[in-house]
Amino acid sequence: MERISGQPNVKVSCLNSLNSLNSLDRLCGFVCVALLLLTSTANAQWFERSWNGMGTRIHVELWGETELQANELIDQVHEEFLRLEASMSPYIESSELSEVNRLASKAPVKVSSELIQLIKKSLQVSQLSHGAFDITYASIGRYYDYRNKRAPDQSQIEANLEAINYRHVVIDEQKSTIYFSHSHVYIDLGGIAKGYSVDRAIGILKKAGITSGLVSAGGDTRLIGNKLGKPWIVAIKDPRREDASAVLLPLEEVAISTSGDYERYFVQDGVRYHHIISPKTGKSAGEVQSVTIIGPDSTTTDALSTTVFVLGVEKGLELVERLPGIDAIIVDQQRKMHYSSELTAPQK
Ligand code: ADP
Ligand code: MG
Repeated sequence: MERISGQPNVKVSCLNSLNSLNSLDRLCGFVCVALLLLTSTANAQWFERSWNGMGTRIHVELWGETELQANELIDQVHEEFLRLEASMSPYIESSELSEVNRLASKAPVKVSSELIQLIKKSLQVSQLSHGAFDITYASIGRYYDYRNKRAPDQSQIEANLEAINYRHVVIDEQKSTIYFSHSHVYIDLGGIAKGYSVDRAIGILKKAGITSGLVSAGGDTRLIGNKLGKPWIVAIKDPRREDASAVLLPLEEVAISTSGDYERYFVQDGVRYHHIISPKTGKSAGEVQSVTIIGPDSTTTDALSTTVFVLGVEKGLELVERLPGIDAIIVDQQRKMHYSSELTAPQK
């Protein structure tokens, strides 16, 4: 895999101060859209499809031999997303995850080894981040209703805060079971499952011999190779301006995930309630506006973007600097951009 850092093969372009960006970022946005359109129409061998799934927009693009092959492959990818959603969604009653949430505090629940492995990976990220990433956040997170602008009240937070602790999730790999050692525990894989699904999709494309393509699901994107000899251009959204880019990144053969406080949120009495929850407080994490992580696979970048969002600039960058092959771009509450040391900061 080609690294994006070092004496840098990524140049962070376009963005210095978000506030000075008016025309530039619009231009960046246009360039991106134009690139997408050009590549999808000017050459018959680019194929692409988008659809709604996992509560977001899923998009696949690939450079393929024939329309038949491309369509079959994208069908397979679509099926895989559906399969994973059916297993891991907390909103689907028959999902394995819902069954776990109903039963695992009473007795160990037998589940697929795939679910065990993803939960194991989640617990590893919890350990790495001293609990900033924690799938048991949902013990309180489940009481947020962003559509109807409802947050848990203080008594709900107090009654369930103890349940937020990844150590309550006990997996037995041999028996393929999950058990919760606290009766109020509820888990949600929203911070990692989309990334995992993107990785599965990329696996399907790579196995079929695709050497240039991408899969994205909401804020999680993974690239195969480059775009006919040139890097892919990936835009990071401006967290506070609809349809504006904060920065454009030329990238190849990497995964990139963004977590922001603008995806699912409401504002009440001046407080922004959004979907990334600090496990310590049960409330929305407030230190930054968005975090982008670049790394080798989407499962990792998805989980880490949520993690670094909770940790904030200082602790977040400290974690990223410890992890080889991982880079970060953070937009703080003052809209200042912070880059991990291996990325090139924009020239003034
Ligand atoms: P998106 O789902 O918009 O791509 P993220 O990747 O940042 O955004 O994931 C946010 C999701 O992660 C939330 O919707 C929720 O399901 C889950 N989540 C929220 N807080 C935490 C946390 N502290 N640890 C693990 N998962 C979390
Ligand atoms: Mg994430």
